[in-house]
Amino acid sequence: MIDVEGIDVSYGSIQVLWDLSFHVSEEDRVVSIVGPNGAGKSTLLRVMSGLHPVDSGTVTAWGADVATLDPSEVVERGFVHVSEERNLFGDMTVRENLEMGAYTRRDTLDETMQEVFELFPILEEREDQRAESMSGGQQQMLAIGRGLMARPKILALDEPSEGLAPQITNRVFEKIDEISEEVTVLLVEQHVHKALRLADRAYLLENGEFVTEDTGPALLESEHVKEAYL
Ligand code: ATP
Repeated sequence: MIDVEGIDVSYGSIQVLWDLSFHVSEEDRVVSIVGPNGAGKSTLLRVMSGLHPVDSGTVTAWGADVATLDPSEVVERGFVHVSEERNLFGDMTVRENLEMGAYTRRDTLDETMQEVFELFPILEEREDQRAESMSGGQQQMLAIGRGLMARPKILALDEPSEGLAPQITNRVFEKIDEISEEVTVLLVEQHVHKALRLADRAYLLENGEFVTEDTGPALLESEHVKEAYL
């Protein structure tokens, strides 16, 4: 479980998260964080991954203060973050990218790769192809597949629909729904409707603060969300 307690976060002298608290545990299926551009969603994921420090407050991952952990130790504990940029190794093959994802889990690599291929058959078909030659949707599936190779308990996906055509976005969301039967998904999205429909718990982040928390369907019905985002 990841527990975020009263964090303030800045870039230099500019504060972007204000006294934020929330938690996500393996009991959850999908937790969504939605909000406009620049609200601080990606920053929150970076902080949870140990990639950016807090000014005050704490983030604990299964009992350990993330500030004392190396980012790879956060992954080993079970929190994997697929960033908006996807960060694939473009000149490496699909298979090699998946292998890189298993750097903390060499022992289960073959077994997990088989599971990832069952979820995304296109990755098996293209396993010897260079990642950069794949379409945007395929690259997103590869990025998610690579995240799963670390066998996370909680998989955080930052804007998985970014840059994808509507039909491909729908495919990606179907896959996220499928993944959430096995692994808790923390979903950060600007596609408010899709992200809330899937969520059993959801937060609206604006200007670095949570303005509302509820079940996904209840937030979808809230006047504020309807007026501002739908
Ligand atoms: P987006 O969907 O556009 O990524 P977001 O909700 O994820 O939005 P963040 O990327 O976390 O928001 O950005 C929050 C604020 O922090 C924004 O004002 C942004 O300009 C600023 N910011 C983000 N990264 C940096 C950085 N590396 N240096 C300075 N400021 C940054």
